[in-house]
Amino acid sequence: MTAQTTSPTTTRNAPAGHVPAYAAPAASAPLERTTVPRRPVGEHDVLIDIKYAGICHSDIHQARDGWGEGIFPMVPGHEIAGVVAEVGPGVTKFRVGDRVGVGCMVDSCRTCDACRAGLEQYCVKGNVQTYNALDKSGEPTYGGYSRQIVVDEAFTLRIPDGLSLDVAAPLLCAGITTYSPLAHWNAGPGKKVAIVGLGGLGHMAVKIAHAMGAEVTVLSQTLRKKDDGLRLGADHYYATGDDATFEQLAGAFDLIVSTVSAPLPFDRYLGLLKTDGALVNVGAPEEPVSLNVFSLMLQRKTLAGSAIGGIAETQEMLDFCAAHGLGAEIELIGADRINEAYERILASDVRYRFVIDAATI
Ligand code: NAP
Ligand code: ZN
Ligand code: ZN
Repeated sequence: MTAQTTSPTTTRNAPAGHVPAYAAPAASAPLERTTVPRRPVGEHDVLIDIKYAGICHSDIHQARDGWGEGIFPMVPGHEIAGVVAEVGPGVTKFRVGDRVGVGCMVDSCRTCDACRAGLEQYCVKGNVQTYNALDKSGEPTYGGYSRQIVVDEAFTLRIPDGLSLDVAAPLLCAGITTYSPLAHWNAGPGKKVAIVGLGGLGHMAVKIAHAMGAEVTVLSQTLRKKDDGLRLGADHYYATGDDATFEQLAGAFDLIVSTVSAPLPFDRYLGLLKTDGALVNVGAPEEPVSLNVFSLMLQRKTLAGSAIGGIAETQEMLDFCAAHGLGAEIELIGADRINEAYERILASDVRYRFVIDAATI
């Protein structure tokens, strides 16, 4: 049954069924205000009034087509926090007025082994990304830099009352992308964990690893943000621009999580692991990286990757962050400053997540 109710409400003279949004019209073109279509609210859909949308470095990689095969015009944004404005007749999890979030995925096959294990991010048929993808009906998806979005309730998260929506928005990507590997590789008491890069993901990684009870070290290019890193929960802070860091910390860590958006010299960082340690890469640089396999073999080390997290784990992360009082450190901006924010992120000049006030879109 595919009963449909009304279309998204529209504002600011958007055509029927369209909502205001900010889009990159073509690869590397500045983002500009436009309108995009949203599907009518279906049986299991919720219509969300978006209040805040975080800016992830992945938005920049994709809006500038750094990963290739981008679909334009592109409305980025996969750190969405808002309020339910309408529910389809079959919706059971949410009611109008609920505080909700949407992350990087809006659908998946739901039947493969990964989906059934709650690992929708690793769906073998490919999950449907929140933007820069085609949905199951072949229509392009448009992300969170917009006023409203229609999402299946199965891919909608509940934002706990203890978290305000603005600081919760970045958790939907930066939070889960760091929580998932920290949990999977057992960051906790007695574990020495290093976080490489103190940006949007990195600052959440520090907060979360600290809350999990690990001993946390930040490895940043410089000591410029040291005070912040220690305030966020790091026990130690080192500059990777200083060669002495790699000598001093040789063999020091059980787990290293790299959030760096550029290619990292993995061999150097693998040298910082203990025997059996793991370097988990979550950064998504646009160029390939090189590796000397001896960096792994000689101390049985692991080099792994990790992508966001499943829906159930994302809810677990939101509940964990609420229980520990963890939100993102944000700089709230109007939509007219998106292009400027992109340049500042590329210059590592972000403390620590830009969040768009959707009322300005
Ligand atoms: P971000 O806010 O720009 O943070 C990245 C940090 O990396 C910077 O703040 C900087 O930290 C460090 N860095 C940047 N360029 C560097 C370089 N050339 N050498 C060494 N360090 C450098 O970005 P983000 O939003 O956290 O995203 C980080 C990366 O993760 C991006 O590539 C993004 O696409 C990817 N990502 C992956 C997933 C996933 O599922 N795996 C999810 C979200 C994002 P310092 O100033 O402290 O050195
Ligand atoms: Zn992201
Ligand atoms: Zn699947």
